[in-house]
Formats: sequence, structure tokens, C-alpha cells
Amino acid sequence: MGKQLQKTIVDILKKTINRQLYYYLDICTRCSICKNACHQYIMTNDLIYLPAYRAELILRIYRKYLTRTGRFISALNRAREIDEQWLDDLYKVTYSCTGCRRCMYYCPFSIDTSWLLALGKAILVAADKYPPIISEISNASIFKGENMEILKEDIIEGLKEYEKELQEKVDDPSATIPVDLKGADILYVSLPGSYSVLTAASIFHQARANWTLSLYEPANFGYFLGDTEKAAVTAKRIIDEAKRLEVKEIVISECGHGYRVMKWLWDTWSKEENPFKIRCILEVMAEYIKEERIRLNRGQIQKALTYHDPCQLARNSGIYEEPRYILRQIATDFRELTPNREKNWCCGGGGGLQAEPELEDFRLKTGEKKVEQIRNSGAKIVVAPCDNCRLQLEDLNKKYNLDISVYSVMELVADATVISKPVFPISNLD
Ligand code: SF4
Ligand code: SF4
Repeated sequence: MGKQLQKTIVDILKKTINRQLYYYLDICTRCSICKNACHQYIMTNDLIYLPAYRAELILRIYRKYLTRTGRFISALNRAREIDEQWLDDLYKVTYSCTGCRRCMYYCPFSIDTSWLLALGKAILVAADKYPPIISEISNASIFKGENMEILKEDIIEGLKEYEKELQEKVDDPSATIPVDLKGADILYVSLPGSYSVLTAASIFHQARANWTLSLYEPANFGYFLGDTEKAAVTAKRIIDEAKRLEVKEIVISECGHGYRVMKWLWDTWSKEENPFKIRCILEVMAEYIKEERIRLNRGQIQKALTYHDPCQLARNSGIYEEPRYILRQIATDFRELTPNREKNWCCGGGGGLQAEPELEDFRLKTGEKKVEQIRNSGAKIVVAPCDNCRLQLEDLNKKYNLDISVYSVMELVADATVISKPVFPISNLD
């Protein structure tokens, strides 16, 4: 390992480790109380997946390079040098963590474990050691933003097909999917694909909302990478679009980390103030139902149905009740997973793990806690308002023969909305 890289890493430590973070690291390395809160530790019985181990790795090099004892007598305080093995160890335990923060919920010292995780990722990014696929997706997303003027016409052309489908579904030839509409109330930031665009278009149409579709997606692989510059650039495109169109608010589709980035993280990274109200589509749908702007076929689903709280939307953003309110309107047999809300188990697929093929076995193994919860609930339908969670739940379904169907909340709402034909052919659920 070159001296320059060692120096870069030490500079990151100097810049990042303040008194508070130092005490976090120091306490954490002597603790592990949260071990039974982590699905990865429980399913592997391997302490390396815990925050305490990550803290220990970082603290040992801090001691080596930034304390007098460590510099001269490393054995006294378990200080160690930065070398390839140390980087490999840090990589293994950093990019495998889903960032679910369940450990933080159970930490008696209220240590924000995502701060330790972010430091680990910042070091790895500086060392050019990260999952290549996550980096490629992040770069592709930034490229799209830089070339939007060229790509825009193709995107709009592609949406015309969705628009025809929408008109047929809602039985109204005037229904549109507006893009670039200046002065709209809502800028809706959708995931790619009809299940996110068409369902929202149907709901907005029936609520008579003044909305426009964003040219960008909420997914932010710069965030998974731990590269806050890339993550901020990716998120800023949406803020800039909202400014250009002079909308009143930004509504994020069912994307857990995408919502958290826009709502809670972007301002900190960019050091700019976000002038827009940010809401998740779940909040908007619940409001439409309460205000009777959309009407649902109550009790349309009779099969046992449960709800998975995505970590980034629930524990890490505080959205618990809106999806439950919506689902209780549609389903006659709504069952909670145990535990739920802020204590819910991570599905095992977040943090970018879904995109990392080499972690597939680990992801499926550590998802077994979620499998156990679903089995115990007896539910046949599992609803999750996050793409990463849904992909993981589908994989768990196949691997463990759960015999469940997995849906987003939007799919069920669009399907149960009175007056439209079913947007998706799922009304035969019962
Ligand atoms: S996060 Fe909290 S509970 Fe977990 S090991 Fe660190 S100090 Fe202990
Ligand atoms: S954030 Fe989640 S996966 Fe990571 S250590 Fe904590 S509980 Fe485990």
C-alpha cells in the first residue's frame, strides 16, 4: 500500500473524528449490546457484522496514526497499520451492512451507527475500493442528468405509450402524464416502470391533482456507495427541476432510501437549504382518501395481508401510520408483523445489497428473520412501499417457498380506486 493512500486515509480520520465521534468509537468497541438487534449477526453468528467490529477497525488505525502511544508502542492500545488486509476487512463489513439502523434503535448510548458506516465508506471511496456495479449505476445516473437535454425527447416519447394505457385504464381520453409542466403543485419523482408511473398517474388523475412527472428517479446509488458528493449531485437535479418548474412540493414514489435522501440528507451534504416540502406518495394517497378525493372499494382484498415497514421509510424517516390507514381500507384481514414499526426487522436487501451479486447468498441467509416474521403472520399478501424491499421479498418468497404475493401500496390503491378499471390485473386476488 502506498504512503499517499495511507496519508489520505489519515487525513479523512483527522477531518471526521471529532470528540463526539471518538467517544462513539471508543464506547462501541467495548460494547456489542445491540448484537441481538442485528439480523446479520443473528443469522450468521459472526461478530464482524456488528457496529462494534467496524468501530474497532477504525479506532485501531486512529490510535496508530493519531495517538502518541499508538505511534510508538502499538501493542499497548491495539493500534495497527493501514494495509491491504485492513482495507479488505473494512470493505467486507461496510458494504454488507444494510444501514437499517436497528442496532441504533437498541443502543443504550443512542449511537448513530450510520455515522460510523459513513466514515467507513468515505475511507473506502477514497481508496477506490467499492462495489463496481454500484459505482457504475451511480455514474450512469449522473451522466443522465448531465445529458438530459438530449435524452428528454426520448423519455417523453416513451411516456406516450403509458399515457395511452392510462386513458384506457381510467376510461378517460383526456387523461395525461404531464412532464415539464410549469406551475404544477406537485413534482412527482417516480421509479422507472409502469408500476410506479402508471399507478401514480391514475391516482393523481382521479384526485384531479395538478402534477407533473419528474425526468429523474429517486434512487440514489451515490448514497449506497457512500460518496456524498455524487449522492448530492444526484439529488440536486430533482431540486433544480422543482425550482425550474416552480412547483409547490416534491413527492417521492415508494423508494425508501430515495425518500430519506431527499427529506433528511441532501441539505446536510450540499449545505444548501431545500426550499421544497418533501412528501412520500404514501402521505399523499392517505390525504386523498381522507379528503375523499379518491374513493376505494373498501374491503376489496379478503386474503390475509401484512405490511413490511421499510427501514428507510419507517425507523429512519418516521412514516408508520399512513400506509396502515390505507391498507385497512382495502383489506379485511390486515395483520401486523411482530415486531413492527420502529422495531421491524430489516428484510436484508437494503443498503445496495440487491445490486451486489456476490452478496446474494448472504442477503438471502440474513433475510431469514423476515421470512420467520411473515410465516408467523400467516399472511398471503405482503405489501412493501420500497423497491429494494420488494425485490428482496420476491427473492425470499422463491428461496423459502413462502407462497406469498408481494405488492406496493400504490398498486393496491390504483387497483381499488372506484371508477377506474383495474390498473393492474390484481383485483382477482380474492
Ligand atoms: S451501537 Fe451502541 S449498543 Fe451497539 S455496540 Fe455500539 S455502543 Fe453498543
Ligand atoms: S445497520 Fe442494520 S445491518 Fe447494519 S449493523 Fe446495524 S442492525 Fe446490522
